[in-house]
Amino acid sequence: MKYAIRTFGCRVNQADSFDMEEGLRARGSEAASPDEADLVVVNTCTVTGAADQGARNLIRRVARRNPAARIIVTGCYATREPEALASMPGVVRLVPNSGKAQLVKDLRGHGAGDGPCGSRLEPGVMGRTAYPLRVQSGCEERCAFCVIPSTRGASRSRPAAEVLAEVGRLASAGYKEVWLVGVHLGSYGRDLESPSSLIDLLRALERAGGDVSFRISSLEPMDCSPEAVDLVAQSGRFAPHFHLPLQHGSDRMLGAMRRPYSVDFYRRLVEGIRGRIPHASIGTDVIVGFPGESETDAQVCERLVGSLPLSYLHVFPYSDRPGTAASAMTAKVAPARVKDRAARLRDLGMQLSSRFLRAQIGTTRPGLTLDDGTTVLTDNFLKVEVPPGLPRNVRVSVLIEAASPALVGRLIGAGKRG
Ligand code: SF4
Repeated sequence: MKYAIRTFGCRVNQADSFDMEEGLRARGSEAASPDEADLVVVNTCTVTGAADQGARNLIRRVARRNPAARIIVTGCYATREPEALASMPGVVRLVPNSGKAQLVKDLRGHGAGDGPCGSRLEPGVMGRTAYPLRVQSGCEERCAFCVIPSTRGASRSRPAAEVLAEVGRLASAGYKEVWLVGVHLGSYGRDLESPSSLIDLLRALERAGGDVSFRISSLEPMDCSPEAVDLVAQSGRFAPHFHLPLQHGSDRMLGAMRRPYSVDFYRRLVEGIRGRIPHASIGTDVIVGFPGESETDAQVCERLVGSLPLSYLHVFPYSDRPGTAASAMTAKVAPARVKDRAARLRDLGMQLSSRFLRAQIGTTRPGLTLDDGTTVLTDNFLKVEVPPGLPRNVRVSVLIEAASPALVGRLIGAGKRG
């Protein structure tokens, strides 16, 4: 059977798709394009209206260009709007997030075992060199703009022993970098029979066998503990990369969004990391146009973001999500204002990124070759172009020589972990 999996949204959704990919490979199915596949799995996201629209467009396109294809729709949009998607052309099955584990079993089929190394995956599958390992899902927070708690449910953690076993399997399959992903990663362990915490898991992973390094995907600011920063600073196994969603730079807006920290807390957190790990990549997300956002709030946010030692910035125009507290708020911001504010913040983001890139010139960073080997992803989350010669998934040290505008570098050494 020929199959195609298309994934929208976050790294947890990507991790879910990897599970489905492994199931299909285990039964000997062959990856193909959606136009040729017998089975197309659409793993949806619903964080924004654009994500919903993207999934609907894809389903219609597959049904039009490949009418014989059987389409399975799953993910957060399928969980939030099952009827709307189930009635779309070509859709034969609708699976909410709660049914994904069973879907993976069904896709794997009966009696289909794992590969020689316990996995049917290897670096490069789904175009990815690193593996997104879901260690937690769900969320107990109630940020006013966020629909995820209603589609992912309560927080659930994978026991550390299970995570370590999975890391061993991935190391045997040849993976050298594992992303630790979760919906609310910082709440890891709170729900386990014998409660633990994210730092406990990170310390256990640091002692794990195998030539694997780890990247923490995203941490809510209130969950980024000094212990975690210290561990990343001291251990060579964790990438010096922190993605800490700020969401807004005005305390008034943070309050309205129900975000449990202040601007001052965030500033001290980011400046603390920069001081402790000067070359660390520190990235963030900011929402523009949250209901009630005034021009003053927007300018306060820009001033804060511009004054922080950030490496990159993702800007999200506010998107009304049904059922969220924010969707019931009346003072919606005019689309033209949202567009203007988003453009201003994106410009700022470009300046922050190029400032960080320029500061890396002349430094040597450990990294991993991606794709055809001519791009290296460094530990501090930079893509550096290097001369051809190495395949994907090789550990290297790269001297960053120029930013023109992409980073260009020279390989200093290949092989062992930096
Ligand atoms: S922490 Fe907030 S933004 Fe993140 S998933 Fe939970 S509710 Fe959504």
